[in-house]
Amino acid sequence: MSHFEPNEYINYEKLEKNINIVRKRLDRPLTLSEKIVYGHLDDPAKQEIERGKTYLRLRPDRVAMQDATAQMAMLQFISSGLPKVAVPSTIHCDHLIEAQSGGEKDLQRAKDINQEVYNFLSTAGAKYGVGFWKPGSGIIHQIILENYSYPGVMLIGTDSHTPNGGGLGGICIGVGGADAVDVMAGIPWELKCPKVIGVKLTGKLSGWTSPKDVILKVAGILTVKGGTGAIIEYHGPGVDSISCTGMATICNMGAEIGATTSIFPYNDRMKKYLGKTGRADIAALADEFKQHLVPDSGCQYDQVIEINLSELKPHINGPFTPDLAHPVSDIGAVAEKEGWPVDIRVGLIGSCTNSSYEDMGRSAAVAKQALAHGLKCKSKFTITPGSEQIRATIERDGYAKILREVGGLVLANACGPCIGQWDRKDIKKGEKNTIVTSYNRNFTGRNDANPETHAFVTSPEIVTALSIAGTLKFNPETDYLTAADGKKFKLEAPDADELPKLEFDPGQDTYQYPPKDGSGQHVDVSPTSQRLQLLEPFDKWDGKDLEDMLILIKVKGKCTTDHISAAGPWLKFRGHLDNISNNLLIGAINIENGKANSVRNALTQEFGPVPDTARYYKKMGVKWAVIGDENYGEGSSREHAALEPRHLGGRVIITKSFARIHETNLKKQGLLPLTFADPADYNKIHPVDKLSIVGLKDFAPGKPLKCIIKHPNGSQETIMLNHTFNESQIEWFQAGSALNRMKELQQKSS
Ligand code: SF4
Repeated sequence: MSHFEPNEYINYEKLEKNINIVRKRLDRPLTLSEKIVYGHLDDPAKQEIERGKTYLRLRPDRVAMQDATAQMAMLQFISSGLPKVAVPSTIHCDHLIEAQSGGEKDLQRAKDINQEVYNFLSTAGAKYGVGFWKPGSGIIHQIILENYSYPGVMLIGTDSHTPNGGGLGGICIGVGGADAVDVMAGIPWELKCPKVIGVKLTGKLSGWTSPKDVILKVAGILTVKGGTGAIIEYHGPGVDSISCTGMATICNMGAEIGATTSIFPYNDRMKKYLGKTGRADIAALADEFKQHLVPDSGCQYDQVIEINLSELKPHINGPFTPDLAHPVSDIGAVAEKEGWPVDIRVGLIGSCTNSSYEDMGRSAAVAKQALAHGLKCKSKFTITPGSEQIRATIERDGYAKILREVGGLVLANACGPCIGQWDRKDIKKGEKNTIVTSYNRNFTGRNDANPETHAFVTSPEIVTALSIAGTLKFNPETDYLTAADGKKFKLEAPDADELPKLEFDPGQDTYQYPPKDGSGQHVDVSPTSQRLQLLEPFDKWDGKDLEDMLILIKVKGKCTTDHISAAGPWLKFRGHLDNISNNLLIGAINIENGKANSVRNALTQEFGPVPDTARYYKKMGVKWAVIGDENYGEGSSREHAALEPRHLGGRVIITKSFARIHETNLKKQGLLPLTFADPADYNKIHPVDKLSIVGLKDFAPGKPLKCIIKHPNGSQETIMLNHTFNESQIEWFQAGSALNRMKELQQKSS
């Protein structure tokens, strides 16, 4: 499977056997997504299969966890009492490194600040057989692409951009920590049988248009929830004009349209990448099984979108949402009309989305032209290499030097500003400003915790060109820059190698192998720690209806997992449930007063912060609910957004609709995610009402639940709420938490 796991093998024979069983049963051509998903069924002969309807029980090949989510996942795994993980698994230290003054210094500072957490993850990894990628090794998804993803793999990761691995033909899915723990404990993992959206690519990428523009365009078409419940499967003759890392960029950002994952069929570009990353043997094996790694001809998609790459134009999306698509040629005028600042304060390239050798090469090709004309970036400019291997190789091949010379600051191989780990000094909080990034997400406050920062996402080469010009009004396809000598010149479209001519330079050794026998390893969690806290299971369902719940907050508008459990400075508490719960819903807007982190305490009538109010209700033994709008919980996979409300006494979240991963995370922790049968009923509930959910004794798949709304004037009305619980998920609710449920399953099997 990987250089790092000499005793783990790819099992294409099993994949083939399962596909053949399912093919016989369904008797129709299969999409590629179906082949790989159904090829990993726990029971391919009996599993009910209906796209968009049934729940599949699956056996993923491996698990990946990033450090911010791995803490909770490993704490849950420890509680399982199992001696070792059941499938190959890895931990990646990438989220906790703050960008301040540049790569080495920032890395050293992070090692000092996060020593306790890194030590916990390293020792827990050693004890339970999990590979540990040390801080400085790079961003989880780049490392997965370089070392672990392969055509036909099914991998789950505790990060929403896990689909990046689809660039190498794998089904790679972002999940919450509790799902990862199930797989590491050897329990089949449940997924609603995905629909399949086909994106047919024709034509050829050229000029300033890049793979990023494909997904920016798709995001504009499907919007942030258009991919919900579906796998996006790219196909068609245009696929071959995209590099393997470019395909990974497209799959990565499929998370922004709510897709379960995205995938490309196995082709020569993947073969080339596998060869360059030392895995020619895997490519040879994939060649033998190629018929299972591409879609059947005549297969049917639930929806088809067609994009002609030859006609595609460079795009830039934002601000505040990744699906607000604009051609680069229009953005200056749109920004002026909308009142968005056109001066660009900072351009940021890198992140798991766009930090490949090709991305760095294309950016350097733009920067080199500016330097030749005596120009540097007008905006500040930062670079985050995706991995130690990329960092070392771009240093060797001169790209890093060019990017520095044009004014760039090379940051550590980590997430950095992409996840709010940015000690930004050039503006004051509250100052309106614009930044452009090659990242994937641009929700309010994500990068620098400033709600007035207008963040736009685009390709790294466009970020570089715009940073040189310093304004959104610059279109590199048509506009001229003024050279140091006063002459006008135009930037040529960048041209760069997709892979290095020499072998990759691996850089420093940043991997810790788990020992053969880790049973003697001690794992340290201090009871007085402010960063780590052992988990206690939540209480089981008491068999009664949920009566007279207060409403903690009725949320107005967008509520992502960043609004529910903010990142940035809060990342340091990701291993301590009680401490991190102090950020519960602090970013959500209260419909009652239009403010963030200010809600009425229904027991005292005083307004106060959301977490304090929730803690007060918990202390008084009162259960509470949250009311949300559309696509509640979109964005990151973080299960803290489910653990926190449960920890502080929340029982029900009622919305117009949920994002997939968050809905599952809520279910796993014993909460009830429910949706209005009639979305207009959102207007019937007021923050001062009390709610009762009745009929829980008869809780059954597909059967709506009744909600009685009691208004303060004594009147009451009843509305119906839908849910997506299947039978086993109802058992999660009854168990009260993922920990209880896992123990029940272990007892059953022993
Ligand atoms: S999206 Fe940003 S924060 Fe998330 S893994 Fe990628 S680089 Fe890290």
